[in-house]
Amino acid sequence: MGTQPENESVNDNSGSSQGKSGSEGEASKTNLQNEADRFLIENIRKGDPDAFTQLVDRYGGRLRAYAARRLIGSGIDPEDAVQETLLGLLQSLDLIDRVRSLQAYLFQILRNKIVDMARKRPEAHGMHQVPLAGSTPEESERRGYEPVSPGATPSQYARRDEAITVRNKILCDVLDEFLDELRREKNFRDLMVLELLFFGSWKNREIAKVVGVSEPTITRVKASSLEKLARMVRRHELLNPAMNLLDTEDNQSQLIRSIWTSNMMSCPKRNTLGSYSLGALDDDWERFIKFHLEVVKCDFCLANLADIEGDGDPIPPQARERIFASSVGFLRKLQSDSQ
Ligand SMILES: [Zn+2]
Repeated sequence: MGTQPENESVNDNSGSSQGKSGSEGEASKTNLQNEADRFLIENIRKGDPDAFTQLVDRYGGRLRAYAARRLIGSGIDPEDAVQETLLGLLQSLDLIDRVRSLQAYLFQILRNKIVDMARKRPEAHGMHQVPLAGSTPEESERRGYEPVSPGATPSQYARRDEAITVRNKILCDVLDEFLDELRREKNFRDLMVLELLFFGSWKNREIAKVVGVSEPTITRVKASSLEKLARMVRRHELLNPAMNLLDTEDNQSQLIRSIWTSNMMSCPKRNTLGSYSLGALDDDWERFIKFHLEVVKCDFCLANLADIEGDGDPIPPQARERIFASSVGFLRKLQSDSQ
């Protein structure tokens, strides 16, 4: 008997589903959906080194696996990228209130760090594939999106329009609800089509071939999904009438694409990947996760799976030491600031 998976973005989020979110004013200092992540961040903000250690243990392995995949042949040390990422998190703790998934946020920081590191090593160009920011429209989109803009300083960020934060929250909420519904209905055909459209940026013709449906079906699934999302947006309590959220089809697709990618909207939870790895999922779910990994080729989940299936210490002890040494100053400062 297999098990039903859950989704990374819909667990532990009693405060985030549509209609309940945002206005209750409960102690929700952050939008982080995962309880354990909230706890860690709360304590890291107080400069607690144990909480930082736990964060490194929790995320270090998957970040390293992602960096290792991205940096093959580059001469850049994946552990350096992980260290930069964790420091980047400490430097951008102010931004985290607007983040929904700590994992997705860390992956976005890592992506940007890898781009920066590759830029600083011109000899590395052309030898390997690194995600060069803005090299194609698709890549610019995949790079990230508010609130995931770890390169920005808090003051730059503060100048940005608050409306963007609200817009993101609305879109995340409705996408969560929409995808959750498709999962509950086990509507894997639409899930596959939409993943390829919005997460993979595939062309209709190729999607039709891979999913085994006609092109008009793709067009229909896309149109009805966008329509439904627009309806859900209109119902959202945070919607301001002045917001032109999903006004044109181009706008819709682009926004949904960036939200989807930077928040890992359709990525399975880590323990679902664990069950997949053990062959313990129901057949239809197993097929879908396999599709997510092998057809969509989700880098984030492939990194998670590599980490899950690897054994031993996820980050070599020396690299761990370096990470902690580089963080000591930040943590002390946080500690004294919070006292
Ligand atoms: Zn994924």
